[in-house]
Amino acid sequence: MAAAGKKGGSAAARASSPGDRLPGVDEARAAFSCALAPDLERPRAFLRAMRAEPPQLLHLEGGDVSSRVAMALWWAALLNCEGEGDQPCLACHSCLRIGANMHPDLFLLDGRASSIKIDDVRALRPLLGEKPHFGRRRVIVLAEAQSLGIEAANSLLKVLEDPSPDTCFVFTAPQRERLLPTLVSRGWVITLPWPETGRALPAELAPWETALARFASEGRGWFDLSQARNGLDAASAQNVVLVGQKALADCLAGRTSGELAAVFRPLPEAVLLEIADLFVECQDALMAQVNPLLALDAMATGLYRAVREGRRGKTLGTP
Ligand SMILES: [Zn+2]
Repeated sequence: MAAAGKKGGSAAARASSPGDRLPGVDEARAAFSCALAPDLERPRAFLRAMRAEPPQLLHLEGGDVSSRVAMALWWAALLNCEGEGDQPCLACHSCLRIGANMHPDLFLLDGRASSIKIDDVRALRPLLGEKPHFGRRRVIVLAEAQSLGIEAANSLLKVLEDPSPDTCFVFTAPQRERLLPTLVSRGWVITLPWPETGRALPAELAPWETALARFASEGRGWFDLSQARNGLDAASAQNVVLVGQKALADCLAGRTSGELAAVFRPLPEAVLLEIADLFVECQDALMAQVNPLLALDAMATGLYRAVREGRRGKTLGTP
């Protein structure tokens, strides 16, 4: 996914120069790879069905951050591919440029590492009166749009009020509830499936599941493990988050064989949604290079609090 993010940022800085080297087919495919998973066939089919008359604004929620952003790029490729098929070929000039974030009609405002600023949104406005330079559709991706500041979100609402028939916006976010309702109501929402459901955990992650289950349930046993793993890297920490997400997905699917899924099972749905959000926030923090152990400790603490509140029958957020 690095190829998709490396040039993200302000729209004004997006002009690609003729000297830019186009990536090879394999490199471009790597940018799309998270969108090509077999369990994403259903959302891809929805997108194919919308291709002829794409909505002005599309929301991609669910899944994980890599699959959301890759799917946004896949959508941009689908709209601009020079091939004849009903899938983007991922090999033509357009697809390669989109995979490398070097397409003159692709604008990636990247909220994965820092918030999307009002100036980034303002820089889009003059573009929208113009025809796409190269492709059929200009595609403006707001990756992890939950990081839009309120001013930027309001400015974007104004942008969306102006007709720009050749431009398609795509927002990615973990859940639609994390965006302004007025933004959500203007677009189509496609929900990607949960990652990693139904598979057994790798053996090295089992102690983390035990520790999370015990801490979520009793408030003990987490910090011993996390302190002992000082020096844990972000990739390993992401796997620990997946342990939690898998348990939650198992619980929602009625499979409660795991220790952590068994802790989740009696909780009200609103609390399960809060827990889903905790996992996403932890993933976001890890992607923003927060210290992995601190991010995991915050997640575990949030989990303990959510479980405690859930057992009291309260919805989080109520006083
Ligand atoms: Zn193509």
